[in-house]
Amino acid sequence: MSSTNSKFSEYYNLRTDIDIRAKELSIKHSKELKCQKGCDSCCENISVFPIEFHSIKNELDNKLDSIPKRKFNIFKKSCIFLQDGACHIYNSRPIICRTQGLPLMYQNINGEGYEVSHCQLNFKKINISDFNIDNTLFMPDYNSKLYLLNKEFIESENIFNKNPKKRIPLYKLTD
Ligand code: SF4
Repeated sequence: MSSTNSKFSEYYNLRTDIDIRAKELSIKHSKELKCQKGCDSCCENISVFPIEFHSIKNELDNKLDSIPKRKFNIFKKSCIFLQDGACHIYNSRPIICRTQGLPLMYQNINGEGYEVSHCQLNFKKINISDFNIDNTLFMPDYNSKLYLLNKEFIESENIFNKNPKKRIPLYKLTD
């Protein structure tokens, strides 16, 4: 795996765009967001596309050995990087982790409209019909950019499985 693939910087740029929008929304919804250290039930074992996996690995480089983490255990649902209620790869965490807690707008299952999902601990006083494109994170754009980036990445690298839907469990960063 090349450590200089140009897709890494495109992934980091996409991540920055999402961080900027997530920050705007966190300010807009600050009264409704209850996320805080120790509230970590969304930190489950996740899997990511190869572009994310290798960009994170490239960024963490030789720091991975010294980062506090649990050994993967099939019976534990929580992420191995969650320790004492905090994420130990916070600055490099995957995109999905950067969107947690916020209202996320997705295309609905039949592709004819949109629906919003959010953590049940947040937005207790907001009616679902109050959500719109201006006060949610519009995921279809981000997801299609990530999908395309991943497709280009796996085509440019010597990766055996070229299925663009293939994902890698995050805990494998420690392999
Ligand atoms: S990478 Fe960090 S934020 Fe994401 S699930 Fe793991 S502990 Fe939580």
